[in-house]
Amino acid sequence: MNYKNITVAGSGVLGSQIAFQTAFHGYNVSIYDIHDEAITKAQKSLAKLKGVYGNYFKDEQRAEEAMTRFTFSTDLAEAVKDADLVIEAIPEVVEIKTKFYKQLGKVAPAKSVFATNSSTLLPSQFAEYTGRPEKFIALHFANQIWAKNTAEVMDHPGTAEHITLELLDFAKSIGMVPLHIKKEQPGYILNSLLVPFLSAGQNLFANDVAEPETIDKTWMIATGAPMGPFGILDVVGIQTAYNIVLMQASANPDATNSQKKLAELLKTEFIDKGKMGVATGEGFYKYPNPAYLEPEFLKA
Ligand code: NAD
Repeated sequence: MNYKNITVAGSGVLGSQIAFQTAFHGYNVSIYDIHDEAITKAQKSLAKLKGVYGNYFKDEQRAEEAMTRFTFSTDLAEAVKDADLVIEAIPEVVEIKTKFYKQLGKVAPAKSVFATNSSTLLPSQFAEYTGRPEKFIALHFANQIWAKNTAEVMDHPGTAEHITLELLDFAKSIGMVPLHIKKEQPGYILNSLLVPFLSAGQNLFANDVAEPETIDKTWMIATGAPMGPFGILDVVGIQTAYNIVLMQASANPDATNSQKKLAELLKTEFIDKGKMGVATGEGFYKYPNPAYLEPEFLKA
């Protein structure tokens, strides 16, 4: 793997984190977004991330140096002109990604490898538009990339083997734990496990089987896990949980009563009341000191 210049396309929540993580490990990072306001916003996010990284890694100097490795552009051809690798973190909308890959395939140099950070869409959906399916792969990061440093590297049927190996190496070189997913799997590994687990917990609640605290307590005591499904849901955010239930219900015309009941409950009891999870200070628990972290929680 001989990459030096990385382009990150889309500089929102994940794009700015990917950009910082990559610059922090010495790469030149070109950031592409669609308009000047988005670039200004990205610059603010990067300045905040500088503080986060300096603090987390106890190395302010290194975080300061990372800030010198960014360039910004709203012109795609300019942004990718030297790219060894383009990491795409633009909105999770099929039409937007399709249009992006059609354009990218035309303007990027032949050497550029493309990786999508999409959470729910499969790389094979876009492979033909890239004009280089063998150099296209998924590289999926988790939010708060510096601490939750999984990099799920997922092939599509046309990905060349040496590209997979390069991406696994690249991920390692930016401080991630590379995790190879050998064939396409919606939800990768993490969400293939997490989404059914969170749904199971929520269904127990929606069906009046038990209260969230009882469910979390059961899971935490019996498995030794540091959090139960409702503690995790607060971190993920209630809006995302709600979107997932709606998606599951719309994909299934015979949506169960429990899914409908759950959607209604998340909407009226949480979203409408501004209880969105950790981000707003309250969800299933109150923050910054949620009950499940109190020593008594697992005893009583
Ligand atoms: P976001 O909305 O925070 O950021 C998207 C960015 O893309 C914005 O800056 C927007 O201006 C820009 N954009 C819009 N259209 C564009 C285009 N045509 N070309 C270039 N940039 C464009 O979104 P996000 O949460 O960072 O998610 C981005 C991708 O990362 C999605 O595919 C999502 O599934 C994935 N992802 C998100 C998370 C997460 O926790 N947020 C985690 C893993 C993966």
